[in-house]
Amino acid sequence: MTNVRYKVASKADMQTEGVVGLFRQAWKQQLASANFCDDEIPQAIGKTGEALVRIYMHEMAPQIRPAAFERPLGGVISSVRIRAQIDLMDEDGTIIDIRTAQAAPARVEPMQRFEWTTCSRLAEGSSGVVRSDILVMGSTPQLITQTWAVSAADVQWTDALYRLAQEAMRRGYYMPNRNSIHCSRHHCPCWRRCEQDFGGVVEP
Ligand code: SF4
Repeated sequence: MTNVRYKVASKADMQTEGVVGLFRQAWKQQLASANFCDDEIPQAIGKTGEALVRIYMHEMAPQIRPAAFERPLGGVISSVRIRAQIDLMDEDGTIIDIRTAQAAPARVEPMQRFEWTTCSRLAEGSSGVVRSDILVMGSTPQLITQTWAVSAADVQWTDALYRLAQEAMRRGYYMPNRNSIHCSRHHCPCWRRCEQDFGGVVEP
């Protein structure tokens, strides 16, 4: 995002090693407060991060012409007021989602389609095309891109789910979402209470 901010002002990317240096600095700050699992080696994670920054700066950053970044969004979908934010939109109206993953994803996850369909519907100037730039942290760091267009089925899905979620919350119904990528004992501080209330097992 620092590189994007720089590019909006100067119409050019920063030097790759400058961005790597920013990453290194930010990573050092994170190290002071982060908790690691027994099988995680902070130094190795840092090196992987640096490699991924270099890959992104070489392969994708030069193609991006930012029209909007870190833009808050607001609007109404299916009579439900929604707030969201996009990290980045290109001049051609493509919404760009930059993220990391442990392994190359086989498909666009349904809840990511939901999220980006929401943003596409709310963002002024959006073309309806979404591109995910996924930095994969496997044994060989790599970049994968997924490009797709918001379909009528995606629009129908957001219409239906927002209405349903609002109705359920108004009635006091809350469902545990054990399929969430954030659902694990490692990521969710509420997992004990969740097991007590709903049963089942939250994975380590
Ligand atoms: S453990 Fe946490 S993330 Fe998983 S379903 Fe329960 S509350 Fe949601």
